[in-house]
Amino acid sequence: MATQEEIEKARELVKSASRVTALTGAGISVDSGIPDFRSEGGLWERYDSHEYATYESFLKDPSKFWTMGQELAEVLLKAKPNEAHLQLAELEKQGRLQAVITQNIDNLHQVAGNTRVVELHGNYLRAYCMNCGTEYIGEEIHRRVVAGEIPPRCEKCEGILKSEAVLFGEPMPQGPMAEAIRLCKETDLMLVIGTSLTIYPAAFLPQLAKNSGAKVILVNLEGTNRTGVADIVLKGRATELVPRITRF
Ligand code: ZN
Repeated sequence: MATQEEIEKARELVKSASRVTALTGAGISVDSGIPDFRSEGGLWERYDSHEYATYESFLKDPSKFWTMGQELAEVLLKAKPNEAHLQLAELEKQGRLQAVITQNIDNLHQVAGNTRVVELHGNYLRAYCMNCGTEYIGEEIHRRVVAGEIPPRCEKCEGILKSEAVLFGEPMPQGPMAEAIRLCKETDLMLVIGTSLTIYPAAFLPQLAKNSGAKVILVNLEGTNRTGVADIVLKGRATELVPRITRF
């Protein structure tokens, strides 16, 4: 677990930074009741991702994805932002945080109050019609799914709806990735929270920030084996550590 000395060092870095960027992954939402999909007991242990969550399998049979989506929706609709999310929103209000880049699809940064959220993997609470493109925003689709409408269909044309969450094998949205790259080049401190830096692009963005002169702080329960990128690695829960290093 993080030592007092490491926490103090991280606080000093946060204090002297003026353009903080956060990069968040599954670990920040665990304390909101959303288990890491990759963890033990996570979604991918119970649903074979090849069968339920690839773009190809969705095109073949969307009802599989939405069957899994029933369970996912129940978890996500219950989740509330935790102390770590709320503290990042507070940093934005203070004018010190320029943006949150997230791999999460759970919408919790927006609920917490952050207005500039770059979603690398989309957002589960948005969906669109694959036939006519009509967008569906918010919880209504998921309430219909939880109630048993599988797959959900467009109210205008009866087309199949697809969640905006990016599936395996589906290209990542290019706009958010370009935005994330730009932010990494402009930031002077990157707070990496709840991701182990092993999965692309989480592995690549902090390195980019560092190459552009930024400091990098990593907050993660498991630490990381890629310590080379981070100036400070704080092992522990995001809900506990994020307020401790960012609240003055
Ligand atoms: Zn439609």
